Amino acid sequence: MRSFHYERAADTPDAVAACAAGATIIAGGTNLLDLMKREVVQPERLIDITRLDLRTIESAEGGLSIGALVSNSDLAAHRDVRRDWPVLAQALLSGASGQLRNKATTGGNLLQRTRCYYFQDSAMPCNKREPGSGCHALGGATRLHAILGGSDACIATHPSDMAVAMTMLDASLDIIGKDGASRRLRLRDFYRLPGDTPHIETVLQPGDLIAKVVLPPPAGGRQTYRKVRDRASYAFALVSVAARIELAEGRIADASLAFGGIAPRPWHDPAVDRLLVGEVPSAALFARVADVLLDGAAPQEGNAFKVPLLRRTLTATLNELCREIPQ
Ligand code: SF4
Repeated sequence: MRSFHYERAADTPDAVAACAAGATIIAGGTNLLDLMKREVVQPERLIDITRLDLRTIESAEGGLSIGALVSNSDLAAHRDVRRDWPVLAQALLSGASGQLRNKATTGGNLLQRTRCYYFQDSAMPCNKREPGSGCHALGGATRLHAILGGSDACIATHPSDMAVAMTMLDASLDIIGKDGASRRLRLRDFYRLPGDTPHIETVLQPGDLIAKVVLPPPAGGRQTYRKVRDRASYAFALVSVAARIELAEGRIADASLAFGGIAPRPWHDPAVDRLLVGEVPSAALFARVADVLLDGAAPQEGNAFKVPLLRRTLTATLNELCREIPQ
């Protein structure tokens, strides 16, 4: 690990100013410190934001306001989350380990970096780590890589489970800019696809600080998070589905789905949601939904298995949520 300058922000303006001057934010450090030890990233200056007043979970606007420093453990265990947004608790508890969830923060979870093997190995060419150097994943080991949304420059996946659930729930972010003004942004508009600039992963500007995540009011229906991975715990998703389905008189009255492990960002396709609404649940309908979702999929040899896996995981999730509940 290279030497770096460390300082602790006293308040939000302090943090924003340091950030605008080029400092890298550190909070839980569960991802950043690993990357620094491997010299995947080499920040010269760290600004520690753990003393900022961003640890509150409270009702807001009919929904829930979650401070950026709320730990993944506290968020998963929160009474309101478990009652009204259980998909979020499920997604959080499916990720990492208990120790990591105790340290990892809400803001950090959103901004964690890909676990692409070549990105994590500073000896390997990687367009995301070093723009223009190439992509060894293309034609290489791609078990964890994208089948949707990738480019000729990068096919890495976003690793967060929490972000998939929040994307399905249509959460928003409150972001404080370097001028001190706060702005709100839908999480669905936060992540960029790689294109030819895979090193730019979000729409954040220099100096921006994520202050909180805001969940909209609880919606009706049933919700779940289904994750398929190589180990039963402490493994990233090969494929995951966050879904909410509301049934009325035998038809799907409302639907929202998001997917993880298959794209450079939590994947939400509005056409998939639209196709379900108003329809009677059936195997034929779910097959059509999978066709729409997978339209444009571009798997590599090493991750072609994700196409049928995603189809089956989607179908199993919809079957579960559309099942009649015995009275
Ligand atoms: Fe780097 Fe992206 Fe290629 Fe992985 S897939 S080696 S992160 S450019």
